[in-house]
Amino acid sequence: MRDLFDGLPEFEPGWVWLVGAGPGDPGLVTLHGINALRQADVVVYDALVDGRILDHAPESAERIYAGKRGGRPSPTQRSISLRLIEMAKAGKRVLRLKGGDPFVFGRGGEEALELTRAGVPFRIVPGVTAGIGGLAYAGIPATHRDTNSSVTFITGHSVTGEVPDNLNWPALATGAPVIVLYMAVKHMARIAQKLIDGGRDPHDPVAFVSNAATDDMTVVESTLAEAGAAAEHVKAPAVIAIGPVVRLRSALDWIGRMEGRQLDPDPLDQAQDEAV
Ligand code: SAH
Repeated sequence: MRDLFDGLPEFEPGWVWLVGAGPGDPGLVTLHGINALRQADVVVYDALVDGRILDHAPESAERIYAGKRGGRPSPTQRSISLRLIEMAKAGKRVLRLKGGDPFVFGRGGEEALELTRAGVPFRIVPGVTAGIGGLAYAGIPATHRDTNSSVTFITGHSVTGEVPDNLNWPALATGAPVIVLYMAVKHMARIAQKLIDGGRDPHDPVAFVSNAATDDMTVVESTLAEAGAAAEHVKAPAVIAIGPVVRLRSALDWIGRMEGRQLDPDPLDQAQDEAV
């Protein structure tokens, strides 16, 4: 059989590769990701990256943790970028490993921009983002032909840590059939209120998927009206889905099925019946 890694790119000294590790399950890292790990001299990794993914790096590779630990603040974005630049300029193969996809709410764009400014060559290896792959592990599709032909990703945290105020909440409330929120557990009550004030149905279903695609995954379902209260029992990290796709979970919870859950073959019809 041909080696799957044949023909994949060589990691050259002096380069930085920004690699997405996926949402949790180490099986969700890509071949390009593993190919990168196998050749790396240094791996700078974030919180939320499963240790089994790091195991693909050579034992000799230096591992640098760049997330929050033990309540201490995380290194600033600037100091991480400077470190990447410094190590690349010293001739190392620098792998920057991020949870999910590096370009989705992961500051990968900011880091890559700094690399461009410093003249350091880089490669981007996309990953499975939590807002799609994590929801899939809960049996929630991001889109479904009968319910939504668009999906909107929103961060619940602006740069200052507040609910983003540069968003047109009324437009989202009525114009975004499915909303997927990242980093939003803390501010869920306010976000739900903004959406309801903007005209969204308070009965709209909501799912909180914590530790998606890990052995510790938990899913809490509620309605938009009750989402603020529900969020108090939700552990971070969580992705939050709002909209009719959440109803499909009763039919598509494939992990639940393995644990004995009876799946409903007509999740959308039943929802309509209930509404009558
Ligand atoms: N780049 C990442 C997102 C980083 S922001 C990606 O593409 O997935 C961090 C947020 O991602 C968390 O607050 C949470 O909302 C979400 N997240 C990441 N991993 C998750 C997981 N395993 N389960 C649930 N949410 C997750």
